[in-house]
Amino acid sequence: MAKTRKRTVENLTEKREHSFFGDVLKYFDHAVQFLDHDPSLLEQIKYCNSVYRMRFPVKNDEGKIEVIEAYRVEHSHHRQPTKGGIRYSIHVEQDEVMALAALMTYKCAIVDVPFGGAKGGIKVSPRLCSVGMLERITRRYTTELVKKNFIGPGIDVPAPDYGSGAREMAWMADTYATFYPTDLNAIACVTGKPITHGGIQGRTEATGLGVYYGVRHACSYKEDMDRLGLEVGLEGKRIAIQGMGNVGYWAAKFFHDGGAKIIAVSEWDGSIYNENGINPDDLLAYKNENNGIVGFPGSKEIGGPGAALEVECDILIPAALENQVNSDNADRIKCKILAEAANGPVTPEAEQTLLKKGVILIPDIFINAGGVSVSYFEWLKNLSHVRFGRMEKRYRATMNHNILDAIEGASGSKVSEESMNLINRGADERDLVYSGLEETMINAYDNIRNRMRDTEGINDLRTAAFAEAIDKVAISYQNLGIWP
Ligand code: NAD
Repeated sequence: MAKTRKRTVENLTEKREHSFFGDVLKYFDHAVQFLDHDPSLLEQIKYCNSVYRMRFPVKNDEGKIEVIEAYRVEHSHHRQPTKGGIRYSIHVEQDEVMALAALMTYKCAIVDVPFGGAKGGIKVSPRLCSVGMLERITRRYTTELVKKNFIGPGIDVPAPDYGSGAREMAWMADTYATFYPTDLNAIACVTGKPITHGGIQGRTEATGLGVYYGVRHACSYKEDMDRLGLEVGLEGKRIAIQGMGNVGYWAAKFFHDGGAKIIAVSEWDGSIYNENGINPDDLLAYKNENNGIVGFPGSKEIGGPGAALEVECDILIPAALENQVNSDNADRIKCKILAEAANGPVTPEAEQTLLKKGVILIPDIFINAGGVSVSYFEWLKNLSHVRFGRMEKRYRATMNHNILDAIEGASGSKVSEESMNLINRGADERDLVYSGLEETMINAYDNIRNRMRDTEGINDLRTAAFAEAIDKVAISYQNLGIWP
């Protein structure tokens, strides 16, 4: 029988030691020391352009009215539309949404996605709400966005985030379309939709896959791995993950399939450990059936939700929420690489402790950008009204087949059937999305790493990433002709 959930996930989130947006401002201030831009331009970039706080009434399942608090923040309009997910959590607050919107601006700049940053939040616990109530809230929230011009394919394009997914995006797209029934591009008003409603193959796993590509590439630098006392590559690397939601599960799956070993995982109900490795698919099935991960066969419980963060491992992946590695536990973190799959999981104070220990900290504004990269592909697909690969898949398959025939004819030797099948096929939408994402993550990591290497005084990837992003946003503003 499924466990009853005595504590809600939200109760587990400790109070922040700082303002999250304040943390982002600190990173900004630190990075701009290494740039040479007009102070007024930097001020324009630093703060949020539009903050929309709303309250709206929704009838609950008992027919009583509940007033829901929600937000949409557009941080920067240097490029439009703005873009960012919608968080469903009882802990949503303005400071958090502002911080996440600002991170989106920098994230988009780092992966060359031509959007400004935005974020939304609805103060509700999705796990304690019926599906009907969630739908009513989501549709009303969308209506509020429409009324104030905070949504549209060329204005502001939401996506899923913590607590939301493809289902919520389908409700939003449908609500938007009822207001603009003749808009051919209406479906591009949100991304992360189900495939049947204009979504794209590969979006669901995009953030976890991006984490995998980014970390795998980071582990390909011999000098960096030598410094950590690690081998190049992912084979056999020991990984701990916090959160088995969308990002955590997919990251775990790709690392597992890529030869790494998931030794520890935490969820709302506690942390589990198995030195021989945990199979992410089996764990997800167990979690879905039992409403938690504790008790997973072959693993031992090692403590509460924070315990997995403190195990000795090569790579630590916090994939739940912000403020998880903070000044309370930073001393006890024993990883060599930390990849911020969640947004803001490490506080600035904790980061200093980790850097002193020599940890390579791969920042959120780069490593979790896979979601927005593939959202960009989805938006492009919606605007072009054609599936990626549709026009050329068969043509390429035939071409490859003809080339193989010609090679076989000229060389007189036969290509094995396995190679034949591999070469013969043309790329479908998922192949193209994966390849576009891999290229994006590898390029972006190299840009950040090069900036760190080439800028005197920058010794960490986060400062390098912020400098890289702010520089790009500043140049974009300059190209608009407003600043010299
Ligand atoms: P999700 O709701 O699918 O999963 C989050 C999981 O974390 C849930 O299973 C929850 O039970 C668990 N959790 C909550 N508190 C925990 C705790 N204290 N310890 C352990 N587990 C805990 O959310 P998601 O979409 O996977 O997002 C996770 C993080 O990744 C968020 O910070 C989000 O902003 C960030 N992110 C998500 C995307 C995306 O595409 N979904 C993109 C970029 C960044």
